[in-house]
Amino acid sequence: MSYQTDITIVGAGVIGLAIASQIANESKEVYILEKNRTFGQEASSRNSEVIHAGIYYPKDSLKAKMCIEGNRLLYGLCQKHNVDYKRIGKIIVANTNAENKELEKLYNSGKNNGIDLRMLSRKEMNHLEPNIRGISALLSPSTGIVESQALMKYFLNKARSNGAQIVYKTKISGIDKVPGGYKIKVEDTQSSFSFITRVLINCAGLRSDKIASMAGVNINEAGYRLRFCKGEYYSILNRKSKFLNRLVYTIPTATGLGVHVCCDVSGRMRVGPLYYFVDEINYKIDGSKKIAFCESSLMRALPFLEAHDLEPEMAGVKAIPQKGEGFKDFIISHECNRDLPGFINLIGIDSPGLTSAPAIAIYVSNLVNEILKNY
Ligand SMILES: Cc1cc2nc3c(=O)[nH]c(=O)nc-3n(C[C@H](O)[C@H](O)[C@H](O)COP(=O)(O)OP(=O)(O)OC[C@H]3O[C@@H](n4cnc5c(N)ncnc54)[C@H](O)[C@@H]3O)c2cc1C
Repeated sequence: MSYQTDITIVGAGVIGLAIASQIANESKEVYILEKNRTFGQEASSRNSEVIHAGIYYPKDSLKAKMCIEGNRLLYGLCQKHNVDYKRIGKIIVANTNAENKELEKLYNSGKNNGIDLRMLSRKEMNHLEPNIRGISALLSPSTGIVESQALMKYFLNKARSNGAQIVYKTKISGIDKVPGGYKIKVEDTQSSFSFITRVLINCAGLRSDKIASMAGVNINEAGYRLRFCKGEYYSILNRKSKFLNRLVYTIPTATGLGVHVCCDVSGRMRVGPLYYFVDEINYKIDGSKKIAFCESSLMRALPFLEAHDLEPEMAGVKAIPQKGEGFKDFIISHECNRDLPGFINLIGIDSPGLTSAPAIAIYVSNLVNEILKNY
């Protein structure tokens, strides 16, 4: 007979860890399986670390709901548990009349989501940020930054102290539906083995479509097949890091929120992410995108920055569902309608996933409670 457990979470990124911290308790056995040697080595540590306000997402979308709630929860838990953060605020700059129109649309959609926003004239903008060039701007005071490693450590420690177990260097390589749950095949550095779990939660980030497919979901039909989009960051060298007081964004593009200036909690600034689609995941960055950075609308807004101030720093990769055009919402689905009761998929958890993590954890915890009651 195989080993049996109550709940298995695939992936120790911020989402898997936040969920584990929410659902682990004495009455359930919870395992987190992670293929890497430690937690948070992929998207969760290769991002802008911005606590988003929820401006960009259509009202009532999961992204809007999770981000707005996540923003509130995140500030609360950072303050209570000493996770480094700053409510630094952000400015979105317009440099042309067309961009100004887009800014007004953002203002309206953000206000529609109930977010505190202020349109700024050029004079008001220059008062707050004397080194920015633009014709108008939007101020989001509730945008901030968080130290993502510290946040993940907090979730991990909470999960562990509630009894969850984390197993590294262990990759899920097969899933079979069996009576009462799922038989999971895993491979570690030396061997492979299997066990049975009643509930399976797929938080495998860039590989979450593969995990869904292993369980028998037709990922093309379901719209779960993912494509990779790589974003490069360049550090701002020298004292010019001090020229800004807030995060500075430009108007969103088709692939993301637009190249922006972000900073970590120590004040170190960088620009990015400059996104492009890739077929394979690697985090190499060779400096060849510097020209594209210098031609971006962000550089027009920051006249004090010159090419030689920018140094290649790091890259992150996000995974976006291939199917359909335009806005892509988070997919969080208990797959009972696909005859896979007890299997929860989280697919396409791109930005604002870091911000949304505590809210997603509560949402998934409710699904798990329903499963344990009804299936
Ligand atoms: C460039 C970039 C910038 C971003 N900026 C922001 C931002 O400023 N603010 C914000 O809110 N969000 C941002 N995001 C989004 C945020 O980073 C993600 O939404 C979040 O990190 C997703 O977390 P995750 O746990 O789902 O994925 P991941 O962190 O990728 O974790 C998934 C884990 O699953 C593991 N795994 C995969 N397959 C298997 C397997 N077969 N067996 C075992 N383990 C497996 C992986 O090793 C990995 O550790 C950004 C994303 C990117 C890429």
